[in-house]
Amino acid sequence: MSQNASAAPANTPQAPIAVEGFDSLYQMAVSQFARAADSMGLDKDLRLMLSQPKNEIIVNFPVRMDNGSYQLLKGYRIQHNNILGCYKGGIRYHPQVHLDEVKALAAWMTWKCSLSGLPFGGGKGGIQIDPTKYSQTELERITRRFTHALGTNIGPDFDIPAPDVGTNSQTMVWMMDTYINTFGAAHKNVSRHVVTGKPVSAGGSEGRDEATGRGTVYTIAAWAQEKKFALDKATFVVQGFGNVGSFAAKILAGEYGSKLLAAQDHTGTIHNAKGIDVEALFKYCAEKKGIAGFPGAEAIAKDDLWKVKCDILIPAALEAQVTSKNAPTIVASGVKVVAEGANGPTTPAADKIFVDAGVDMIPDILCNSGGVIVSYFEWTQNKQGDGWYLDEVRAKLKRRITNAYDRATANREKFKTDGRNAAMITAIQRVAHAYKERGIFP
Ligand code: NAD
Repeated sequence: MSQNASAAPANTPQAPIAVEGFDSLYQMAVSQFARAADSMGLDKDLRLMLSQPKNEIIVNFPVRMDNGSYQLLKGYRIQHNNILGCYKGGIRYHPQVHLDEVKALAAWMTWKCSLSGLPFGGGKGGIQIDPTKYSQTELERITRRFTHALGTNIGPDFDIPAPDVGTNSQTMVWMMDTYINTFGAAHKNVSRHVVTGKPVSAGGSEGRDEATGRGTVYTIAAWAQEKKFALDKATFVVQGFGNVGSFAAKILAGEYGSKLLAAQDHTGTIHNAKGIDVEALFKYCAEKKGIAGFPGAEAIAKDDLWKVKCDILIPAALEAQVTSKNAPTIVASGVKVVAEGANGPTTPAADKIFVDAGVDMIPDILCNSGGVIVSYFEWTQNKQGDGWYLDEVRAKLKRRITNAYDRATANREKFKTDGRNAAMITAIQRVAHAYKERGIFP
């Protein structure tokens, strides 16, 4: 029986979570868009059209728990924009999942896919649950009922989910299998590319598991090349040691020789001034489901993470972690660049502090785009019936994400602006161009 069996139904309506200076995360995302739109003088009609998602799908569905009781769960799928292609974006299982949060994440997917030059638009989905409180069999039934409830709102040539916080390749296989079993027989359709982030055995791509972390590191490498900064002498700190943070740390330390000084996840915060053995931490975390208690480092207080003197800070946990409260501490700790492995980890107030202090920013829509780029490779391989080798995937990822970095950098110079705004302008330009060419129906 799950620990959750006697808990109250998890579909209690929840107010949007305010983010420093904004009523919700979506308002924060809109403000980033508006700032870039102002900088580039975006047409007012386009601003209006892009200010809201195209579709907001909310489903309520019952799920049987292991003890025979039922819960009614609320699931979201937001389809922000599809002018460039199918909606694309992750599915999140987390207690904070909320309509406004999912809207923000979907909007960022539109900008991320555009910036990466992918034939995708933006989407995002989720369920407001704490997945650690459910058994595997309950998670399977939750995922299958959610997929069934979404029905044809997702599809291999319409809207393609992927993993995000609290979901993984197993979740994607359940989604794929449910979709194929629901629609496959009727439509003679066994489209495995209805989701990406699948295990390789189920049609996933080599290198998808490491892709977001690897992409994060490739953008850090592009920054280091631009700034003539030696990564083999660099130190870094990572917040979040899940899919993104752990692979970013492993690759930055293992392949580029940088030293990890501190890490934080939901179980604890650890520090070692001489450097943390990332391979050992990676294995420890996989086994213990968290980094707390790792013998190769000392436990420190949660807020002391930001005080650790280092060159590179990688927030790779959740949104709104870096605010005007801790940004001055981060500046004082000598950080040279913030590489946003997570989506929306930095508030606009913190952005301003970094700009004023000369701290560089590799923004989320660029920094963590490796995940959706390799998801695109997976989708392409599925459509072609192909399977690429790992070295091909890595080389194509590096080329595509470095190209996006270079295009954003060119706009940073052209518009005399900061890293976030430049990336956003670059992303909006492609979407705006597509609207201009196609016009508005009818
Ligand atoms: P994950 O669930 O694998 O890991 C999340 C990590 O954050 C865990 O280590 C968890 O312990 C930690 N965490 C959670 N709450 C925390 C807190 N309050 N303080 C400190 N640490 C906390 O998720 P992930 O897939 O690695 O995603 C992390 C971020 O990266 C999210 O913002 C996600 O949207 C973004 N992202 C993920 C992908 C992907 O491919 N997985 C792609 C692009 C962006």
